[in-house]
Amino acid sequence: MSRTADRWYISFRIEIEPTNAQKVVDVVGVDLGVKSLATLSTGEVFEGAKSYRKLEAKLSRIQWLSRHKRLGSANWKKVQAKVARLHQRIANIRAYSLHKLTTYLAKNHGVVVIEDLNVSGMMANRKLSKAIADMGFYEFRRQLGYKTKLYGSELVIVDRWYPSSKTCSNCGVKKESLSLKERVFNCEHCNFECDRDLNASINLKNAASHAVSACGLVSADTTRVKQEDFSLKANVSKL
Ligand SMILES: [Zn+2]
Repeated sequence: MSRTADRWYISFRIEIEPTNAQKVVDVVGVDLGVKSLATLSTGEVFEGAKSYRKLEAKLSRIQWLSRHKRLGSANWKKVQAKVARLHQRIANIRAYSLHKLTTYLAKNHGVVVIEDLNVSGMMANRKLSKAIADMGFYEFRRQLGYKTKLYGSELVIVDRWYPSSKTCSNCGVKKESLSLKERVFNCEHCNFECDRDLNASINLKNAASHAVSACGLVSADTTRVKQEDFSLKANVSKL
């Protein structure tokens, strides 16, 4: 049992049998986004960030209000409790969008390919969407780890030095530089034009396909996650 923001929670553990669900897509590359939560090589985009913008605005209003109350007064305490509840609600919404994404990926795709991200660097420059920044890349990877096992799919992690953004997913030529502002990938070599995040996700998908398909064709170091690393016992927290 635990208490967060004036609410009590009970956590319990359940054991579940893995299922081999029918997969819609064989291999999917996932690019964790700057603007959106994730872009899939299938062209699907998980926005995941809009629903709590309004709550965040509300939160900053209340926080401003709390600065104008006398420290320790009854009113001040009331506002503090409100702030804590809002923080919790925003965190819950973020957690939900991440769970929704990882379940969808593991359930419907035979192989899920993600990039190994440098977490500390990512937190420093806030280049990733808030959901990922808040939960942490480790949590995204952890969820994918146990869920791919649960649904009978495979998780492949591509080396973080693989140039997924700078490479043309059409002809394979790598750009020397690509600034974060460039949202559309334009290849000077084959004139291919593509959304930047979609291009990256297709490259991740290709990186894994090459690594499995033939010797000598390996374009990136990939790690096939040892499924036994993850406990099948899922921690379920509910009110
Ligand atoms: Zn090209």
